[in-house]
Amino acid sequence: MFLWVVEGVGNFYGLFQLSERGGILAFGRQGLPNFHLVLGDFGKFPGAEHVDFAAWGRARLAGLPVLLENDLRMALLGEAEAGAAKGCDSAVMLALGTGIGCAVLSGGHLLRGARNRAGTLMGHCSVAFDGLVGRCGNPGCAEDQASTAVLAEQARRRPDFSRSRLSQAQSLDYETLFRCADEGDDCSRSLLEHSLRVWASLLLTTVLAYDPEIVIVGGGVMRRQEFVLPVFRAHLNRHLPAIRADIQVVAGKLGDQAALLGCERFAAATRPGVLA
Ligand SMILES: [Zn+2]
Repeated sequence: MFLWVVEGVGNFYGLFQLSERGGILAFGRQGLPNFHLVLGDFGKFPGAEHVDFAAWGRARLAGLPVLLENDLRMALLGEAEAGAAKGCDSAVMLALGTGIGCAVLSGGHLLRGARNRAGTLMGHCSVAFDGLVGRCGNPGCAEDQASTAVLAEQARRRPDFSRSRLSQAQSLDYETLFRCADEGDDCSRSLLEHSLRVWASLLLTTVLAYDPEIVIVGGGVMRRQEFVLPVFRAHLNRHLPAIRADIQVVAGKLGDQAALLGCERFAAATRPGVLA
C-alpha cells in the first residue's frame, strides 16, 4: 500500500513519501538522513535536524518503525527494481535541478561510506578551481556553477546580460534559459553551454569514481532530455573513449513512482524477517 502523507513534526514540515507494508515505514527525504535523524538539510528544511523521527513514528503512527533515507537513493532503488536500471548491480543517479543530487548503487547495494554520505555530495565536487567559494565552502563546486539556485546570479554576472532576453524574464530557471537560447539569445546560449559543460564534467567524474553500468539523469532539465542526453554521451565518448561503450546514460522510467517503489524495497531489505 502506498500513501502520500503531509505531516508536521515539531517545527519541521515536509512532504513525505511513505510506503507501508507489514508495519514498516520508509520515508524518502532530501538532505542527509541517517535512518532516524536528518544529519544536514543544507537549508532546505530548517529544524529537521532536531526531529527524532523514530519517536515521531511511535507517537503519531501507532508505534510503527520509521526509516529515513535520501529521496534520490530511494528513486535509484526503484529504478533498479523495475525501471531504467532493472537488472543492473552498479548504477548512478544524478539529479540536476535546484541543486545537484547523486545516489550510487554498487554491487547491488546502496553505497553509504563511513558517515552515510557516499555519493550524495557529488554535486559539491570542484569543477572550477579558480571559482568563487560557494555556499558549501568548496571553491568552484558544481552546484554553485550550474543549478537553478544560482542561475539568476550567474546570468547577472554576464557582461551581455543587460541586453539579453534573460534580463526581461519574470523568473530565471532552466526552462526560461532553454527557451531564450532557442530564440537565439547569445547570453542564454553561452550560459546554457556553461551549465552543460559543468554537468557533463561532473557526470564523467562520477563515472570514474563509481564505475556504473548505467547513469540515470533526472531533475527539471530532463524536460529537454532529447537535447541534454546526447551532449552528455558525446562528452563521455570524447573524453573516456576506452570505456565509453559500456556505459548507458539515460532518463529514468518511473518518475515519482521510483522513490515510492524504492521505499518499499528499502523497508523490505532492512527488516527482511518482517515483510513477506
Ligand atoms: Zn558546493
